[in-house]
Amino acid sequence: MNKKRICVLGSTGSIGRNALKVIEGFGGRFEVSGLSAGSNMSLLLEQVKKFKPKAIAIGEGSKIGRSGRRIGEKVRLLSGKKGLEELAGEKDSDIVLVAVSGSASIRPTFRAVSAGKTVALASKEALVSAGHIITREAVKKGSTIIPVDSEHSAVFQCLLGSDISKVAKLYITASGGPLWNIPKKRFMHLSRKEVLRHPKWRMGKKISVDSATMVNKGLELIEAKWLFGIDIDRIEVLIHPEAIVHSMVEFIDGSVIAQLGITDMRLPIQYALSYPERFENSLKKLDLTNIKKLSFYKPDLKKFPSLQLAYDAARDGGSAPSVLNSSNEAAVDAFLRSKIKFTDIPKIIEKMLSKHKRIEFPSLDDIDEIERWVESEVGKFCSYRS
Ligand code: NDP
Ligand code: MG
Repeated sequence: MNKKRICVLGSTGSIGRNALKVIEGFGGRFEVSGLSAGSNMSLLLEQVKKFKPKAIAIGEGSKIGRSGRRIGEKVRLLSGKKGLEELAGEKDSDIVLVAVSGSASIRPTFRAVSAGKTVALASKEALVSAGHIITREAVKKGSTIIPVDSEHSAVFQCLLGSDISKVAKLYITASGGPLWNIPKKRFMHLSRKEVLRHPKWRMGKKISVDSATMVNKGLELIEAKWLFGIDIDRIEVLIHPEAIVHSMVEFIDGSVIAQLGITDMRLPIQYALSYPERFENSLKKLDLTNIKKLSFYKPDLKKFPSLQLAYDAARDGGSAPSVLNSSNEAAVDAFLRSKIKFTDIPKIIEKMLSKHKRIEFPSLDDIDEIERWVESEVGKFCSYRS
């Protein structure tokens, strides 16, 4: 049996590390063709030693250093944005797993799709900003995009064997994040630690802040729209604190199909890599008698205005989702550097959405331009704040 050759973009991150655990667990089925990291060179070097990829890409300005001699002559070293794109389109891989956080994932995802690869996509930001470009290119080049995000993996599985035209509604579930039970009046004074303390998942910093503002669910609505070709008004968010039902599909006859599982990202990662097969694994299995209760609530859009802003941007379409994505990313970065308060994040998103001049079909260059504009505006906001 031929092993599937997997290129892991963002291998030093939370998803990347979990993906390598999955690959290691199925050594007879998968092998690593490529790896990439932004700045964590020591972990990347360990991974190179263990998984022996043919090529690696490192972030802009990062250096392998003297210890780089350990990577050996056979490993091709690429660097910077162009290097990451080149790795994404490499002929030596069957599946490209995209797990680079934020907008840095957009062009590599486009490149992998353009090369006709099967893309296991964790980086939702790529579809939020450039879903119209990436999905069109995927159809043109015969590339399949398989979701890694747990909710979208759930919907993907619920839809197997069904026609999307028979879908009445998608229910995207949300645990509620770390602030679900914290009164809104405390939001002004939240520390980074409180914001980053997610009750159910251990994730990278950006997505952890996104879960606290709940913009993460907003990004996921837009991600679902592009992945499944469904209108935003047929996608509903449900708060489900137990995080056992990962999402549901309601069909036109009223039948609802749900996917349930433990909260472990190795599960959706494994499915994205094994699809269309399923492999037996040694992960803990779901025990519903132990969980006893599954509860669902409507989200509070006043407490979490970023979710409302995401709905608005999704309905507005054109370049609005790109502005939502870029302004959120810049604001989260500023919050993590202690330049702004937690409550400034939705303020910044709202301001950028109202200020920008809408483009109907933004190109990848337009999206880069939006990013530069937003960064400079958020920079001004931060200097005004300090
Ligand atoms: P992490 O922050 O843990 O990891 C991000 C990875 O991307 C790291 O390997 C990092 O390298 C690399 N990276 C970051 N910026 C750049 C850049 N500019 N150029 C090149 N490489 C870069 O993120 P997560 O793994 O948590 O998330 C990755 C993606 O998956 C996100 O889009 C997120 O929304 C999505 N996702 C994550 C989930 C999770 O459970 N974590 C669940 C569902 C979706 P380095 O660290 O070496 O600098
Ligand atoms: Mg998710």
